[in-house]
This record gives sequence, C-alpha cells and structure tokens, in this order.
Amino acid sequence: MIRQRLYNVGLVTMCAREKSDGDQVQASGKVLLIQRVKVPRGEIHVIEDRCKQCRLCIELCPKEVLKESERVNEKGYRLPEIVEEPETGKICVACGFCELACPEYAIWVKEKKEKALME
Ligand code: SF4
Ligand code: SF4
Repeated sequence: MIRQRLYNVGLVTMCAREKSDGDQVQASGKVLLIQRVKVPRGEIHVIEDRCKQCRLCIELCPKEVLKESERVNEKGYRLPEIVEEPETGKICVACGFCELACPEYAIWVKEKKEKALME
C-alpha cells in the first residue's frame, strides 16, 4: 500500500509517497530514507510566587505545549502548565526558550533521562 504524507526535510516540506514498510519514500523522483531520531524531553518547573502571568513563555514555546492553567499564585496570577500530546508530536523538547524568555526567572526546564523517538 502506498500512503501520501508530508515530510520536513530541512526547511522544506515535501509531499511524498511512502511504502507500507515505512523505510523508503519517493519525493520529487528521489528516494529518501525516513530517519527516526531521539529527541530530548523536558520537565517544566515554575517558581509560583514569581510568575506575573505575562504569557511570554506560552507565546514563545516552539512546541506550543505551555498553556495558562486554572491554578493561581498568591498574587492571583494564573500559572503556566504543560499540556503534551505525544501522539501528535507535541512534547516539551527541553529547548529552554521558556526559561530564557521569562523576565521573572520563574520557569525552568530540566531534561528528563528518557528520550522521545520522532520522525
Ligand atoms: S523547554 Fe522549550 S519546548 Fe519545553 S516548554 Fe519550554 S519552550 Fe516549550
Ligand atoms: S514568562 Fe515567566 S512570568 Fe511570564 S507567564 Fe511565563 S512563567 Fe510567568
């Protein structure tokens, strides 16, 4: 069986046909190997009383896994929380953008021991 799929190759997204064994794809007449790579996974920590609900971490997360939660700190600010969907590839990859972006030094990421396998 041949399936039609989209692949990211560098900055270019290609439409390709994949054989059911999943090892090879044909794109623009060339045969490409599908590579599965191990990516880091992150664990987010929030120092609750520092958060000012500015949302910078949420807006800048490239994986869009941070959301505003229902939990509030003692100043009444809603805290960010992580919401992952591993089946769709939405996981924290421990890139550290949220940590760099936070003006209050209120969020930090710890890399987990386990890695995720992704195409
Ligand atoms: S470490 Fe990266 S992927 Fe994980 S929540 Fe922060 S910005 Fe998002
Ligand atoms: S960037 Fe920092 S202060 Fe702003 S919402 Fe995120 S954790 Fe809170």
